[in-house]
Amino acid sequence: MLLMITVTNAGQNRLKESQLNELNLKVKSYSESLDYFFDATSEDVKGVAKHKTTYTFFANLASGMSMEYGLGSSLLQLRRNLVRLTKPDTTLSTSALFDRMLLVGFKSNVIADSHPRLPFDISRVPFDEMRAVDHKIDVFGKNDQMMIRVLENVYFNGELVGVVVGDINLDVIIRLLTAQEYENSNSKLDLATQQGMLPIWNTFDAEGNPIDFKQGNTLYFDQKVGKTPFRLHAWFEPVSESQIITSTWFTVGLSFLAAPVILGLYYSLRINNTNLVLTTKIEETHNQQAALTRQNERLKTEIDRRKMYEQELAYQATHDTLTRLSNRKSGDEKLRHALLQARREEMNVLVMFIDLDNFKQINDTLGHLAGDQILMQTAKRLKDSVRKTDVVARIGGDEFLLVIPNLNSEKQAQLLASKLLATFEDPFQLEASEFFVSTSIGMSIYPQDGENAEELMAHADTAMYRVKKEGRNGFSFYDSSMNTDVQRNLDIDARLRQAINQDELEMYYQPIIDLSTEQIVGAEALMRWDDEKLGFVSPEEFIPIAEKNGLIHKLGEIALHTACHQAQQWQSIQPLSIAVNFSAAQFRQKDTLMENILTALSNSGLEPSLLDIEITESLLFNHTLETVRLLEEIKQLGVYLSIDDFGTGYSALSYLQKFPFSKLKIDRSFLQEIETTPSSQELVNAIIAMAKALGLKVVAEGVETQWDKDYLQRHSCEFAQGFYYSRPLTKEAFEALLLDRAKNHTS
Ligand code: C2E
Ligand code: MG
Ligand code: MG
Repeated sequence: MLLMITVTNAGQNRLKESQLNELNLKVKSYSESLDYFFDATSEDVKGVAKHKTTYTFFANLASGMSMEYGLGSSLLQLRRNLVRLTKPDTTLSTSALFDRMLLVGFKSNVIADSHPRLPFDISRVPFDEMRAVDHKIDVFGKNDQMMIRVLENVYFNGELVGVVVGDINLDVIIRLLTAQEYENSNSKLDLATQQGMLPIWNTFDAEGNPIDFKQGNTLYFDQKVGKTPFRLHAWFEPVSESQIITSTWFTVGLSFLAAPVILGLYYSLRINNTNLVLTTKIEETHNQQAALTRQNERLKTEIDRRKMYEQELAYQATHDTLTRLSNRKSGDEKLRHALLQARREEMNVLVMFIDLDNFKQINDTLGHLAGDQILMQTAKRLKDSVRKTDVVARIGGDEFLLVIPNLNSEKQAQLLASKLLATFEDPFQLEASEFFVSTSIGMSIYPQDGENAEELMAHADTAMYRVKKEGRNGFSFYDSSMNTDVQRNLDIDARLRQAINQDELEMYYQPIIDLSTEQIVGAEALMRWDDEKLGFVSPEEFIPIAEKNGLIHKLGEIALHTACHQAQQWQSIQPLSIAVNFSAAQFRQKDTLMENILTALSNSGLEPSLLDIEITESLLFNHTLETVRLLEEIKQLGVYLSIDDFGTGYSALSYLQKFPFSKLKIDRSFLQEIETTPSSQELVNAIIAMAKALGLKVVAEGVETQWDKDYLQRHSCEFAQGFYYSRPLTKEAFEALLLDRAKNHTS
């Protein structure tokens, strides 16, 4: 009996302890979901601050555009963008996260407001504090009037020009948390802020009054909410004695009952062995003992159940403990979420599988601690290479998942993959030694490579295995034309060397037109290769291969020398500048590059100011101080620099300001759909406005129709290039065109 009581008591204590752990985890999970909520709302507000409509507005403002022309429409866009965030999401049937959104000029007036009819006191914005931080979550007002706001600075040309203010819809917070709590739990939850308590819930007692948890025997938790200035205060009633079947009282009662029975039994046995009453009593004791055992069993089951729940909760925690990235489950969830959104907004999603090469070997030879170090550093490199809104998760030992929710183009994916590969070119630091680890990347794109998360993950995985098979340290798209044909790549590699040696590469020239006069003012030199075995090979196919095998330096030299020489000869027909494409890879051998430019200019006798070097955005990704210096040096020679294919990569304004460019070439993909897609028009307008604000001239590539030309002229784009005027031509054909135009001009 004594043993039974002890066991029961120990069990009860364990149960209480287990409840404490469970509640602790529960409060932590509330705080995590709140933290996530604030992350999401912060991203939204930041999204507005960094949104193209916001940029466009300030760019328009800076360039002194009239309301009628630019400002008006950009304001309309801006307001639409703000209002969108204060509207419930009907497809997901979720409430709006914000009650109100505003863009406020720095220390000036309200620029746009989702609810312009409601009064707004501009002094509510803590401008002075915002000078010190770019982002802030704070509380405004007290008690019933309490308001939680997310604030984000807006910059233009590096100058602080405004603040985006998002008033959080407090109902969403309350619903988010109440949805996670059992209906009949006796508890109270408050969100503690600098301005006081925001009550989330409080259980009522039988009389309908809120229970005062601050008194009596309650369990209290105080949990910080992630990166916010808030804390959660939670009170719970401990497991009610009545809920535990074998409560202390029940056990004590039983023992009281059992003691006289055993005593009686002892006496009765001594007095009369055949006493019928006594037999019944013995049976009763037996029954009670059995009941007690059963209760103990139920108690044990209850403890097991709670333990399992604890484990489940811990398992559900969304992060991988080693790398602090999202774990597989959460990565998977985020991918699903991204797909839902992409389906709604008709966007592409990139799914990337990243697997370290030979990781097992590292683990085996250097030990698990070294392996852990590499995984942690890998996580950091991946996180640092993408935007905050992109998803990075660790989904297995050395496998990572990356989700880019709004992919613009396959090219963007390709650039990102190259950028990731490049980050692995730096050695990993392990204690005193350095270690190189490469990785293999497989990619799939929604919707072309799969409709749902399972398909996309499986396909990215297949693509990754293909890279592994092809010798690792590379990337591949699932079933895409560019990287599938291994044999062709090998052929191109081999034949290209031969083509260079036998001088089989030819330069073509495409005119660049001044849109105000419609005269040819320049030409872009484009490389052509017609191989007798492979047929015509596009530069888009052989340039990337040449970048990998190092032939790009030779190709660059050929292009530059031929183009400069040719341009110099044409000066007698008509003054014109020559644009030559440079690959980012060429900038890795900066001495050779500089020497090349100098000899090409002196050999040909071409004026440096007639040479225009075109560079794509990928160079700017991983630029070093040296890159900037090299570009400055080139500029010093009097040569011009243009940014090519603008808008396809991670075009950031800040990049453009850092580098000494004079021209910006809008990628031809924008022109392709400009006639039918208003968003492309808007983008082109914004790019032109931005370029103007930065003092850059604009060249539109891919001008194919009269409509395109008229549109660009109306929007004050300076230069155009495209099939509408002429395809790239051989030097003879180009010369004929020049002569023809010159003749028409004079006659
Ligand atoms: P890019 O510098 O953007 O060159 C413009 C491309 O657009 C050329 O493709 C040109 O033929 C094409 N294009 C011009 N007008 C139109 C049009 O109206 N419609 C359409 N659909 N396309 C038009 P291309 O010659 O195939 O060259 C592709 C890319 O290869 C170039 O893009 C450039 O990045 C690279 N490239 C070409 N030659 C060289 C070179 O000598 N060196 C380096 N590093 N890259 C080169
Ligand atoms: Mg170009
Ligand atoms: Mg281009």
